[in-house]
Amino acid sequence: MEEFRLDPVDLTFDLISNERTGCRECLPVENAIKSIEFKGRYLRVYEIKDRVQPSRYQLDGKFFKRSNAHGYEELIVENEKHSADFVTYSADDIEKLLLVVSERLNELKTYDIGKNISVSRYVNGHDYWDLVILPIPMHNTQKCHVCESLNYVGNREIYKTENLIAYVPFSPKKNEVARITTLKHTAIEELDSVVAFDLANLIIKIINKFTNEITFNIKQSGADHFELDVLAGENDPIDTLGINRINYSPEGLQKKMSEKLNNGK
Ligand SMILES: [Zn+2]
Ligand SMILES: [Zn+2]
Repeated sequence: MEEFRLDPVDLTFDLISNERTGCRECLPVENAIKSIEFKGRYLRVYEIKDRVQPSRYQLDGKFFKRSNAHGYEELIVENEKHSADFVTYSADDIEKLLLVVSERLNELKTYDIGKNISVSRYVNGHDYWDLVILPIPMHNTQKCHVCESLNYVGNREIYKTENLIAYVPFSPKKNEVARITTLKHTAIEELDSVVAFDLANLIIKIINKFTNEITFNIKQSGADHFELDVLAGENDPIDTLGINRINYSPEGLQKKMSEKLNNGK
């Protein structure tokens, strides 16, 4: 069981986690809650019940149940076998996947799970998207911070199309090498095929020109305008929301340390 804790001083969140290492999708998962046709086979959607849990909404077919905690996570998996095919996909394939993610987020919007969306895709790993929706941390802004930041790109622009802009942020987040967003205020749930295709082409361009390991992370908070972060290495969707993962129990550690320090030997 995992648990969010808020630091009352700097108002940052920790996720106390007992996550095992290794590929997320190769860990045992329960039955798929949805299948979608993709490249002549099926991609499958799995709800993750041990991570951001207990989830407020448990998906079991079309049925959602409430529980006291919050947060939701699912994996959208293209490949049951452990392989990294993303680099071989065409722009049409990637467009289709982006639209699948958008559609899933649109479906989940009905359930008021939270405003913080983070969907990560580690290009060099198993073929899946790790989708997280959380009600924390809260980002309440009067104006759209994404539209606003586009006024201050200055000399940090790296690429532009009719629909998109890619730039290096003034104050990048951990591992962030570029940020891509739509020039027009667009919610990820309302992604259309024109923008998705444009985005797919830019993703392919980035993969082809930069051979390093990359994670793409779709991020959206209260302002309902999405950004796609390009991150170096393998990155966790929790981390990109600014939440620290702590892989031990503070109470468990207290017990161990206290025993050591207070026992004679
Ligand atoms: Zn795997
Ligand atoms: Zn905006």
